[in-house]
Amino acid sequence: MEGAPAHTDLAGRIALVTGGGSGIGHACVLALAEAGAKVHVVDRDAPAAERVAGEVGGWAHVVDLADADAVQKLPAEVDILVNNAGLQHVAPLHEFPPEMFTLLQQVMVTAPFLLIRRCVPHMYARGWGRIVNVSSVHGLRASAYKSAYVAAKHGLEGLSKVAAIEGAPHGVTSNCVNPGYVRTPLVENQIEAQAQAHHLPPDEVLEKVLLDRTPVKRLIEPTEVAALVRWLAGEPGGSLTGASVPIDGAWTAH
Ligand code: NAD
Repeated sequence: MEGAPAHTDLAGRIALVTGGGSGIGHACVLALAEAGAKVHVVDRDAPAAERVAGEVGGWAHVVDLADADAVQKLPAEVDILVNNAGLQHVAPLHEFPPEMFTLLQQVMVTAPFLLIRRCVPHMYARGWGRIVNVSSVHGLRASAYKSAYVAAKHGLEGLSKVAAIEGAPHGVTSNCVNPGYVRTPLVENQIEAQAQAHHLPPDEVLEKVLLDRTPVKRLIEPTEVAALVRWLAGEPGGSLTGASVPIDGAWTAH
């Protein structure tokens, strides 16, 4: 808020973070709450949503984001919307299950659309709002076997830009953040599995397999992504909109 010290400039703001029960979403909930916001934690994992909401004195909402009717019942009085929830499925195109393709679009494109649509009237009425979409390097580049994920993240990028253009006259910004590999349970499990499959120690799997294309040879921490999200949600972020900000150790610089 105007006049508040920079570190608590989100006092009085209401945030909603999807996939807030784990990984990057969890780190975003903590960072936004530390900056003074009250946070709605949305996740299909009930114990995780409740635990994280409890950590920050926020509200838990146990919702499957693939269920459009349930999404329409989430709070609309939101100043900071973080569309973070996501999932991955890896298979070649000719074997990719169509229902899995549809699910990824529902969770990673349709749910963000429904939430933006639901929350912007409140933001417009207040003349202030922040939409942060957790995209990926795969919102900017493609990799084999990730057709649904790459299509969904590219869709999210387009949605984010439209929200930026429509929101501009109302003081509402919309941006994507584009992480490379982040140290979350999802990725850590992959390291274990790859280490066994390749008969390599875990740190070599990291460098030779997962971080092969990444100049900075380490995983990104969820707190690093959350710090970027928190900055975009704050007051100084007013002119940074319609953008996609890579946090990828120069993966997309190649
Ligand atoms: P994660 O698996 O640790 O957390 C994702 C959370 O989303 C989980 O709590 C899960 O329960 C929730 N979720 C998934 N599907 C849901 C649904 N249908 N309804 C409600 N909640 C649902 O994953 P993460 O690594 O923290 O990923 C968060 C976001 O960051 C995703 O959009 C992902 O694509 C993106 N991302 C992750 C990485 C990475 O390396 N981990 C890199 C780039 C982008």
